[in-house]
Amino acid sequence: MLQQKHEQEPTYITESKKRCIELGMNPNELGTPKNVLTELEIKEKKHDYKEILEVVKFFSEKIIKSLEGTPILITISDENGYLLDILGDETIKSTIELLGIKTGNQFSEDMGTNVVSLTLKQNHPVQLIGTNHFNKALFGSACYGVPFHYTDDNNLLGSICIMTAVILHNPFFLLTLTTVVDAIERELLLRKQNSKLNIMNEMMINKNKIIEGQKKELEKSLKAQEEFLTNISHELKTPLNVIYSTIQLFNMYCKNGSLDQNKDSIFSYINSMMQNCYRLSKLINNIVDLSKIEAGFFELSLSNYNIVEIVEEIVNSVAAYTDIKGLNIIFDTDIEERIIACDPEKIERIVLNLISNAIKFSDAGNEIFVNIKDNDKFIEISIKDNGIGIENDQLDIIFNRFKQVDKSLSRNAEGTGIGLSLVKALVEMHQGTIYVESEIGKGSKFTFELPSQKVKQEDILISKTIRSKIEDLQVELSDVFS
Ligand code: ADP
Repeated sequence: MLQQKHEQEPTYITESKKRCIELGMNPNELGTPKNVLTELEIKEKKHDYKEILEVVKFFSEKIIKSLEGTPILITISDENGYLLDILGDETIKSTIELLGIKTGNQFSEDMGTNVVSLTLKQNHPVQLIGTNHFNKALFGSACYGVPFHYTDDNNLLGSICIMTAVILHNPFFLLTLTTVVDAIERELLLRKQNSKLNIMNEMMINKNKIIEGQKKELEKSLKAQEEFLTNISHELKTPLNVIYSTIQLFNMYCKNGSLDQNKDSIFSYINSMMQNCYRLSKLINNIVDLSKIEAGFFELSLSNYNIVEIVEEIVNSVAAYTDIKGLNIIFDTDIEERIIACDPEKIERIVLNLISNAIKFSDAGNEIFVNIKDNDKFIEISIKDNGIGIENDQLDIIFNRFKQVDKSLSRNAEGTGIGLSLVKALVEMHQGTIYVESEIGKGSKFTFELPSQKVKQEDILISKTIRSKIEDLQVELSDVFS
């Protein structure tokens, strides 16, 4: 249908044409786009608009198919008028390239009154039929444009325009385009909501995973606590039972007046009671200290001491006990003196705990080596035995609180697994690290490294001989001898 002469030209078209004249444009000359995207920019833009273009293309192809035989072109632009895609007849495409209608070109009013810029500017459906155009070269065309948005926030996304010959002008084109854009907008909204739902879904899944992980951790920790309580109550009961039955025995001796005749065995029972008191005392000390460390109430009193001397003194003090067990303890150092910041009382707990384990898990005739090595930034102290050794898969967990290596392996003695947890915590409080190397049947080597640095407040060198009180020693070695 030809454009009817009586059709009133909308004011926004007349005004746009006026502006073109004011800008000094010539209707006989084709306008040139001020801005043109490079190939790379087009690629990037298409990537950003991937989903939108996918939807728009899908529906545009439907229009083209339904109008088969009618020569039409469909252009898709972004919200700034840059043409992102042109669909339709290939022969028309090459003709309109001469009119400046090409992917990457920006359609603004500088190109003369055109359907893309007017549609975006007016933000409603627009048709430019024949002489509605500013450029005479476009008088033979009928163009229809509809803007499209995200319907939830009304954000302008771009325009879809149909171009055909003026002789084929029919208001049906604009109507069809408006209906199609409605479908496009609904599909875009659906996809947007779907992607929001997907994100939320993913967040929920992740959250669930985290909760599941936390639940597992909690279950693990509860199980560990339960195991610990079982272990610890057994550990507490064993020495307590010894003390309890010995008291009963003494009571019987008192009652039947046989105290005197059992004098010798009474002395050995008293010794056994004493050892079991030490054992209880060590256990309670360890539990209290670990709890204090975990609650953050345990403090180190750091001063500058000769670490070599501290360790050597500890080794000397246990020699009598290793002798009783038929073990040989050997101390070796590659430095005579190294002053570092440490808490001697805690160093003693660390070393004694490790030596006590070495004794516990070694057989008579074995040797225990205590070595000190200077590693420049660190002092390395190792306690090595050639006892029963530890299974490979247990090496990672033995420093974990309450976890004790399979009971069947620690055939020489029993334990709670609290000792190494405390040792690790004490080493770490000194900014140090501890690790273990071990081989079943060959022995174990525990090494801890302490930073070779001094505390600033302590500028006088305190050289103090650390000698464990015998009672302290007996407490630390109690589970070896009880
Ligand atoms: P406990 O105080 O019960 O002995 P520890 O924390 O000191 O607990 O040690 C945990 C476990 O690690 C021990 O029960 C033992 O199985 C293993 N272990 C520690 N030191 C040695 C060692 N020198 N040789 C073999 N096994 C060891």
